[in-house]
Amino acid sequence: MHNTMNINTYRFDGKGGISLDDYRTDDTGGYTKESSRELLQQNIERMATLQDTLYAQNIHAMLIIIQAMDAAGKDSLVKHVMSGLNPQGVHVTSFKQPSAEELDHDYMWRAMRAMPERGRIGIFNRSYYEEVLVVRVHPELLNRQQLPPVTNHSALWKQRFNDICSIEQYLENNSIHVVKLFLHVSKDEQKKRFMERINDPAKNWKFSAADISERGFWDEYQNAYTEMIEHTSTKHAPWYILPADNKWFTRLLASEIIIQRLNQLNLQYPVLSNEQKKVLEESQRQLQTEYK
Ligand code: ATP
Ligand code: MG
Repeated sequence: MHNTMNINTYRFDGKGGISLDDYRTDDTGGYTKESSRELLQQNIERMATLQDTLYAQNIHAMLIIIQAMDAAGKDSLVKHVMSGLNPQGVHVTSFKQPSAEELDHDYMWRAMRAMPERGRIGIFNRSYYEEVLVVRVHPELLNRQQLPPVTNHSALWKQRFNDICSIEQYLENNSIHVVKLFLHVSKDEQKKRFMERINDPAKNWKFSAADISERGFWDEYQNAYTEMIEHTSTKHAPWYILPADNKWFTRLLASEIIIQRLNQLNLQYPVLSNEQKKVLEESQRQLQTEYK
């Protein structure tokens, strides 16, 4: 029997404020790297079974949003945690700097086009949340968004928080269930990982000089993340703050969060009508009496 991990300590569902300093980046929930290996493997298998039912039932969809500072492990989380899923039923979208075409639309446009179909799991590697993160840290990015002149920035961020909450409510009302993961990495750990990217030729491609300049805005980003979590955590779409200094624990926790959410959906294989059962029986008869 599988022991259910306690994910509540990592969830913020919107009451009061938070300080990210109160959330440890190196927490491992009492697990060890060795013990986590088998548990993650089990979770990957459980996820695959749940996904199969999600796909067959074709009513619900799940949208997993991953947000984090650079090198917090977004890509490797996707790679390791989703490895057991059926690729037909998963779609990963990475949100980069918006293109000219995308900038000619409202900021939700590109996200809405990437929403998972029923029965599917959609993963957003970065998301519309960048609109209250990178754009907030660098408000000059607003100048490219073809908006009327922004006179009151704080009103704009508030409006975006509200709009995002409304859209996530809309998605939930339409059986698209949003799971939001913030990978909380320390500044020291980020430095270590940047160093690895610089020193290891196989990782060089992952490094860009822009990563260093963004690191210079560390505190601004932490503030933006704090406000984002405070203002967009809701009962049906809370933020999870995942300790991200130890990738093995981030992966275990993320898989557990996804499983527990899928379990709440009461997923079931479609039940055949009597009519459909008769068709199945007839097909079986035909196969059995087939001339060899
Ligand atoms: P890695 O961790 O491998 O570097 P990444 O997600 O950082 O992956 P990059 O191509 O390095 O991928 O960066 C994408 C960049 O696009 C990020 O700096 C992000 O802030 C930026 N971005 C994403 N969405 C928006 C947006 N709406 N407006 C402006 N910039 C955005
Ligand atoms: Mg990057």
